[in-house]
Amino acid sequence: MTLLVDIHAHVQFSAFKDDADEVIRRAIEAGVKMIAPSSEIRTARRAIDYAEKYPDDIWAAVGLHPIHLKAAHFDGGGEDSPAFETYGAHYDEAEWRPLAEHPRTVALGEVGLDYVDRLSVSEEDRALQEATYRQQLDLAIELHKPVIQHCRSGPVAGKPRDAHEDALAILAAYVPQGLRGVAHCYSGTLEQAHRYLDLGFSLSFTGLITYNSAWDGVIRDVPLECIMVETDIPYMTPVPHRGKRNEPIYVRYVAEHIASLKNKPFDDVAAQTTENAKRLFALPI
Ligand SMILES: [Zn+2]
Repeated sequence: MTLLVDIHAHVQFSAFKDDADEVIRRAIEAGVKMIAPSSEIRTARRAIDYAEKYPDDIWAAVGLHPIHLKAAHFDGGGEDSPAFETYGAHYDEAEWRPLAEHPRTVALGEVGLDYVDRLSVSEEDRALQEATYRQQLDLAIELHKPVIQHCRSGPVAGKPRDAHEDALAILAAYVPQGLRGVAHCYSGTLEQAHRYLDLGFSLSFTGLITYNSAWDGVIRDVPLECIMVETDIPYMTPVPHRGKRNEPIYVRYVAEHIASLKNKPFDDVAAQTTENAKRLFALPI
């Protein structure tokens, strides 16, 4: 069976509260291994619970997502974008460290910068995001675990700001200390993609690429050795299941789309992206 590693599957999110085990079973039967990243402390603990329950198929990533540093309500837009609340979390390393050190935790994530409009990010908010990001990068280096980076550009203090420029500047100081990682749901330019690669980072793509051609050029250009695949369930459902809740088995459509853009056999894309995930996260597969 062709193995795929969905490096970003929030199986522990409430969208799956009634049927997570069925969704996971379908993935396992289809040869899909999963990394479950967290957004805040509760979903970090639940990610580890799932990683313990499915030791051969799920691994946890724990981190405080920047969106949770400020309280806001996000309206949903259907099964593939459920509504959610953020609550103004405070990053307390004493609370996070044991989760990050946990043997089922293979990475720190999601960590990064998020300037989405809905958060009305002020300069103080941005500075707090950066400080929290840096604290988690320090921990990743200390624990020799990679990071899963989330970045979204948007307005800061009312002016458009490129989150990838900020992230690249921050990472440049950490990579020489041994930091490794992946830019998840890659949303930057081709030029920025090469700067991530120069830093030794990989890029990963979601089902977004099946209905938005903005990153076709990046995917064609970047070596397959630097690419991973993910779903970001329950979000970003690929064609042909748009509008429905996403699930890990659909990671296949992401790999197929990459194969068509790169004009390579699906099996080569599956094998190489699996190898890339295995290497970065030290997965025993
Ligand atoms: Zn995510």
